[in-house]
Amino acid sequence: QPVIVAIDGPSGTGKSSTSKAVAAQLGLSYLDTGAQYRAITWWMVTNGIDMEDPSAIAAVAGKPEIVSGTDPAHPTITVDGVDVAGPIRTQEVTAKVSAVSAVPEVRTRITELQRSLATSAEDGIVVEGRDIGTTVLPDADLKIFLTASPEARAARRSGELKGADVHATREALIKRDAADSSRKASPLAKAGDAVEVDTTDLTLAQVIECVVTLVEE
Ligand code: C5P
Repeated sequence: QPVIVAIDGPSGTGKSSTSKAVAAQLGLSYLDTGAQYRAITWWMVTNGIDMEDPSAIAAVAGKPEIVSGTDPAHPTITVDGVDVAGPIRTQEVTAKVSAVSAVPEVRTRITELQRSLATSAEDGIVVEGRDIGTTVLPDADLKIFLTASPEARAARRSGELKGADVHATREALIKRDAADSSRKASPLAKAGDAVEVDTTDLTLAQVIECVVTLVEE
């Protein structure tokens, strides 16, 4: 039976770097579910959908075709055949993704994609997100919930964004986590059987080692 690892947590906890490295080290596939929510949000922005109107978002949730490549050494994401790996990381998409991902029709659609990718990964898979252990893959073999102090998370994010203002980044991050945690449809949450890892005082290498050890146990 191929191993399924669910890694959840808020942004800036090192989720993506950890998940990719663990998958690469163990020869597993890798799925970034945040990239899928960003991709559908990019499509909504590009097509002028009214982001203030959940029913407008719901009405077109099935339209874009989103394809994720699951090689941890080279993860890819396309929408209707267009490579959107760059455009999904803009501030505009980041600011709007929580509103789009709160719409139940969007979640149902993206959750189906995630389950089909996870069950077809012959060598096993690491799936990272916000609701993987609670909703998408409740039977995962191992569930990890990564946390870190708001200061550490903001510092890491502004480091990634090269010179972005730490305070503005911290505010935006706190706002997005609050929206993700308070929505009705499968909010950001720790599964009852998840192992919580506080990464505040750990290096990336230490977090990776910790998760690899848990998978191998
Ligand atoms: O992980 P990342 O920051 O790229 O995720 C972007 C957004 O996608 C999150 O802020 C959240 O709104 C949404 N998301 C989600 N469920 C997931 C993964 C991401 O709602 N499993």
